[in-house]
Amino acid sequence: MFGQMQDSPLLVSQLIEHAAQFHPDQRIITKTVEGHFHEYTYKDAAKRSKQLAQALVALGVQDGDVIGTLAWNTYRHFECWYGISGMGGILHTINPRLFPEQLDYIINHAEDKFLFIDTTFVPLLEALQSKLTKVKGYVIMTDEAHMPTTTLPNVLCYETLLAQQSGEYQWPQLDERQATSICYTSGTTGNPKGVVYSHRSSLLHSWGITSLNVGEICSETRVLPIVPMFHANAWGLVYAVAMMGAEVVFPGPHLDGASVCDMINRYKVDLSAAVPTVWTMLMQHLTQSGDTLESLNSVLIGGSAVPKVMIRSFEQDYGVEVWQAWGMTEMSPLGSLNKPRPQDALLSYEEQLNIKAKQGRPCFGVQMKIVNDDNQPLPHDGKAFGRLMVKGPWIVSQYFKAETSALDEDGWFDTGDVATIDETGNMQITDRSKDVIKSGGEWISSIDLENAAMGHDEVLEAAVIGVPHPKWEERPLLIIVAKNPEQPPSAESVLAFLTDKVAKWWLPESVEFIDAIPHTATGKINKVGLREQFKGYQFEGVSA
Ligand code: AMP
Repeated sequence: MFGQMQDSPLLVSQLIEHAAQFHPDQRIITKTVEGHFHEYTYKDAAKRSKQLAQALVALGVQDGDVIGTLAWNTYRHFECWYGISGMGGILHTINPRLFPEQLDYIINHAEDKFLFIDTTFVPLLEALQSKLTKVKGYVIMTDEAHMPTTTLPNVLCYETLLAQQSGEYQWPQLDERQATSICYTSGTTGNPKGVVYSHRSSLLHSWGITSLNVGEICSETRVLPIVPMFHANAWGLVYAVAMMGAEVVFPGPHLDGASVCDMINRYKVDLSAAVPTVWTMLMQHLTQSGDTLESLNSVLIGGSAVPKVMIRSFEQDYGVEVWQAWGMTEMSPLGSLNKPRPQDALLSYEEQLNIKAKQGRPCFGVQMKIVNDDNQPLPHDGKAFGRLMVKGPWIVSQYFKAETSALDEDGWFDTGDVATIDETGNMQITDRSKDVIKSGGEWISSIDLENAAMGHDEVLEAAVIGVPHPKWEERPLLIIVAKNPEQPPSAESVLAFLTDKVAKWWLPESVEFIDAIPHTATGKINKVGLREQFKGYQFEGVSA
């Protein structure tokens, strides 16, 4: 017998409606592209999202049409998330940091009908426009006073479009399995792949990430989502804040340390979310300025491994708890979060730090396992590393327009990450499978080495790649950006620093200093770029 409960669809329009009805006066604050602060409420946002939906209908947008955005985290972009998906369109958030050839590839591949763009990105699209044959028009997300002169064809002004509509609009009752949005992976090799989220997956993910065991988001939380709306679904925060009626501060393009610090202190933000590179900039600002972070309770950090030195500094210098998160675009994106267990409080801080450096335990809804090359499950002993496989209702099943499933025959998705899982279920990423260093038939974790090297006082950033070695197959090369490039630490002092932190045979064969480590469009260390830069590298005294 089936249960006898209502089967109403889960739709993202319900989130903004709920916020408008039950948290109408909660604020949405934006540091705009133009530089001033804009404030309004969920009630205003819901009305304007409906005006946008009406404007789309007036432009001839049909159910299932894809509408692209190239925009920062702002209230207007927030309206696009609800206006476009709510009326049955599919929101395609485009990462402007992709290479131009990847940009035109994804805009054409997704068949974007209109592009909604911030003024910042007008020159980028002007350079690409001749290749964007399917785009019918460009909506510039500003008012008439700030409209730029442009060579783009069929240009419309966002505020003018909205002003023509009443906001008297009934959201359609869609099928909950219908697509809300598409986000492409950044793909360092090959073309980016599109991940298509549904209304159902988006709502389930929001419940997952707001819970007390995860993001602890409620109507009393003030959230600063620095993670861009164009990267990995903004970690689901755009939906989560509305579900809970949380106040939100959008940073626009202002991501430097001083601006982030100012927004946190000015609006008494208690939770923020970003990749480690953003926090490195904030830390540098705090050290130089002496500023503090009085209101901030916790930061969600993910996208790359969080160095222990960053966790320690946030927690001990600024009283901010670090919650390391792991996930991927294909997972909406949350997979796991590192929250201490009550019994961890009995451990020394150093022992707690070793636990906090892990990527955490899965939130409800995500299943995880690690397997060897023969697909056999590996033990959860914190030592065995294997391919990390996941399953769950907000995880991709097939890439956009792909002909085959993205899953294995038992329905597991291979994340491409290599990880250990310990006895408590705490997962630790040791590498991307493509980056793991194979030395003498064993694996060395580049992430562990990087994390350890970042603990050196004079190291700003560290990256480790495998370099071919005649005897060992590959050996680790440590590449460092010094805090003071004029006076970098000696290679010997860095190696000596590492000796009691990693196994002896993991110690890098050599250390090189460079001015800047290249990053991908999503803020990760660009290992492909580094391997290219150090192609043909030879360790001293070793002939190839
Ligand atoms: P993206 O789809 O751009 O979010 O990238 C997902 C990938 O980022 C994952 O498969 C991991 O390789 C990496 N990643 C995400 N979070 C973490 C983390 N906390 N620690 C280490 N790697 C991470």
